[in-house]
Formats: sequence, structure tokens, C-alpha cells
Amino acid sequence: MRTIRGRLAVWYAVALAGTMFVFAAVIYLVQRREEFAALDERARLESELIAATLSEAYRARGRLVMTDRQTGRDVLQPDVLPFLESIRGYVVVVGPEGDVLHLSSDARALPYGSLVRLLAPAFEIGSNPSFGMVDAGSPVGEIRYYARSITAAGPRIAGVLSGASVSGLAIGPQRLLMAMLLVAPVILAASVLIGYQLVGRTLKPVDRIVDEVEAISDGRSLHRRLAPLRTGDELARLTSTLNAMIGRLERSFATLHRFTADASHELKTPLTVVRSGIERAITHPRVTPEVLEVLDETLLEVNRMAEILDSLLTLARADEGRAPLHLEDTDLRDLFAEIVETAGILGEQASVAVEVEIPAEPVPLAVDRGRIRQLLMNLLTNAIKYTPAGGNVSIESACSDGNVRITVSDSGIGIAPGDLPHIFDRFWRADKARSRSGRRPGVGLGLAISRWIAEAHGGSIHATSRLGRGTVFVVTLPIEGTAIEREAP
Ligand code: ADP
Repeated sequence: MRTIRGRLAVWYAVALAGTMFVFAAVIYLVQRREEFAALDERARLESELIAATLSEAYRARGRLVMTDRQTGRDVLQPDVLPFLESIRGYVVVVGPEGDVLHLSSDARALPYGSLVRLLAPAFEIGSNPSFGMVDAGSPVGEIRYYARSITAAGPRIAGVLSGASVSGLAIGPQRLLMAMLLVAPVILAASVLIGYQLVGRTLKPVDRIVDEVEAISDGRSLHRRLAPLRTGDELARLTSTLNAMIGRLERSFATLHRFTADASHELKTPLTVVRSGIERAITHPRVTPEVLEVLDETLLEVNRMAEILDSLLTLARADEGRAPLHLEDTDLRDLFAEIVETAGILGEQASVAVEVEIPAEPVPLAVDRGRIRQLLMNLLTNAIKYTPAGGNVSIESACSDGNVRITVSDSGIGIAPGDLPHIFDRFWRADKARSRSGRRPGVGLGLAISRWIAEAHGGSIHATSRLGRGTVFVVTLPIEGTAIEREAP
């Protein structure tokens, strides 16, 4: 069970089953006690009635016992028999010598072994009346009885035992238990279902909170807050705690962005001074070739540093929302025309054929020309950089559904499937070892900036690649008037 909802429903069912079991057991025991008490009372009343009736008959007639001529055994006079037979259950009347004077029809029908067990307490009747129970064995089961002595019915009658079988109870405890066992699964299934629904409803706000937190925690929506709950319960507390946490996160992110932006900005001026110092030194007439070489390398590094600072500043400002786009009406063909020359030179240096397919029809865009040019140049320089000599690179476009799809493809080294999800991350490079120098220098910020530019224009950027075969980057931008709002002047 992976969900809290499922776990709670199961625990609910277990608790309910336990409660039902205890409840059934209590009902069973109470019912049993009451049924037994009623049975005992019946046996007692019957015994009392028999004793009173026999005593009365003895007083009226003076003789109640006669000897059966056939068997030679003492039996009761026939005229009291109808009365005794009218009493249901097991009735035994005994004489003082342990002789059985009368057995009810039920008692006579008992198997021999059962009868012997029933007679045992009848032979032991003392002066004190007593309740008891005998196990008469199968098929009769337990018999509860009341036995008492009879003193006023003559010297030949000693006592009476009246009893009834437990299995004959109107609603026997066993039957009650069976009924409960049959009903229990139905009640249990119904309550689990209801419990599952109830828990689902109770946890719905939690689901909503999780969705909202997911939407907020992508890092770009930290200004948003969860809708406050007025219920005053644990979820309301959770919501306010989460809101406070998101607030703190927002503040620390802002501090981080501000620091990056300020640091990049502050470093730019001294770097410009260093660069112009080196440039002046290079042009000095008395500089020796060795020093010139060192100065050249230093200038290269300083230029690289300036590029990194520029990229960092752009991203930090974008994060802060302080990198506004200067939108203007543009034709994509003009943008392509602007990059064709630079791309051609870069391609020539790397012995890579660059093909720029300028669209035949105008493609009107409302974009920040500088940023889109930067985006396209990032993709083209990457394509050239990661394509070995002799390969080719192309850029083309196609319009559909109010969007223009700009495709930059190369026949280069490609990107491993495991690397593909990371290429837009900041400072991510497939080949970190050769970052600073070598054939493919770079720092891993170009694609992060490209993605920001595409998304800031209401578009998107995606890459597909096959290792060793080449890579395709597709930038989608809305055609003018279809998606983004223009910046207020
Ligand atoms: P940089 O090129 O400065 O390293 P980017 O952000 O432009 O940084 O690219 C990140 C990484 O994505 C590169 O280091 C490279 O591994 C991979 N990559 C980008 N474009 C291509 C391409 N066209 N072909 C192969 N790999 C590429």
C-alpha cells in the first residue's frame, strides 16, 4: 500500500474487524447468560410445580406409588401421569432407594449413555435444591437442570429433576454467532469502501497542496503562494508553514541572484581596464616576441572571462526578472541575413560547410533582435564547434500553426542519450576536461541562455541527437501577433 489513503482504509478495516469481534463476543456472552438463566428458571418452576402437584395429589389420595405387576418395579399412579407428560423436556421422579418412578417421554427417548448421565444428579438429590448441567453427549448436547427433594408426597417419592436441552434454545448462542459471521464480511466490505471514500475526501486538500507546491517549486514561481486554508486544522498549519518556507526560499534565491548580478557587474570594469592595458602593451614597439606570446594568451583568457561575466550577468538578471526584451518588428529573413556572414567565416575556419536557407516569404516576428541573433549564433557556433572538419551545418525554418520552427542541424559528434537532458543546465559540458582550452572551448552557459531567450519570447527549444551522427536543435517562436504581449514603451 503506497498511498496514505490505502493504508488508512486497511487500518480502518482492521480496527473495525477488531471492534466487531469484541462486540460479537460481548453480545454472545450476554445472550448466553440470559438464555441460560431463563432455561434454569424454567427448570426450577417446572420442578416446583411437579413437587407441589405431587404433594397435593398425595394429600388428596394418600398413595401415589404402586408396583408394576409385570416388572415388579415401583411406578407412579396412572392418573398423575397425564400431568407429568404435559411438561416438556426432561423430567425424572425418583424414590428414596434410587429407583426411577417416572421418566418423561423426552428422557425415555435418550440414548442409554445419555440417560445414565442425566440420572446421576437425580440419584444424588439432597435436602438443598440445586441447579446443574450435564453433558448428555451427542446428539442431545448439554442439559441444564434443577433438582429438588420432595418431602410432602409420601415416603416413596424422594425428589424430582427437571431439565431442558441447551440446543433447543429459541436463538441459540451458536446461531447468533453464525449470523454474525455471515453479516460481518458484508459490513466490513461496505465500511472499507466508505472509509476509502472518506479518507480520499479528507486527503483531497493534501493532494491540492502537493500539486501547488510542485508548480511553485520549479524555481521560477517562488513569488506564488499556496491558497490559505481557513479551517484552522493541521492542513491550515501546513499551508502557512509551507508559505513561510517558500517566502524564505524566495528571499534567499533573490539574494543569490542579486549577488551574482552585482559581482558580475562589479568585475566588468576592472576587467575592461585589464584588457585595454594588455592591448596597449601588445602594441608597444619594444615588446619582445616571448612577452608578446604571453600577452596574447592573457588577452585570450581575459576575453573568455569577459564572456563568462556577460553570460552570468544575463542569466542573473533573467532570474531576477530584470532582463527586459526590447521587442521590435522583424523579418526572420533579415536575422538570417545578418548571421550568414559570421557563420560562413566560422565554418570556413573549421572547414565545415554552413548552409543558411533564407525563407522565400517574409516571416514577421516581434522579437528582441539582439537576443534572437545571440540565440541563433549560440546554436550555429555550437554546431560548427562540435562538427569535425568536412562536416556540414545548416539552418532553416518552417511556419505552422502561428509559429516558426527554426532548425539548426549538424553532422557532428552528437550527444549521448544520457547527456541530452542536461545540456540546457548551467555550466554543464559533456567534455569538462577540455573546457579551458583545446579545440572546443566553452563554459556551458550558451544553451542555458538560449533556452531563456526562447522561453522569454513565448517559445521553446528542444534538441534531438544521435551520438556520432549529429544533433538537431529546434527553436519554436510565435509569429508576430500570435502569442506574446509587447513590452510597454
Ligand atoms: P559550451 O558550448 O560553451 O560548452 P553550451 O551551453 O553551448 O556550452 O553547450 C553545453 C554542452 O552541450 C556542450 O558542452 C556540448 O557538450 C553540448 N552541445 C551543445 N551543442 C552541441 C552540438 N551541436 N553537438 C554536440 N554537442 C553539443
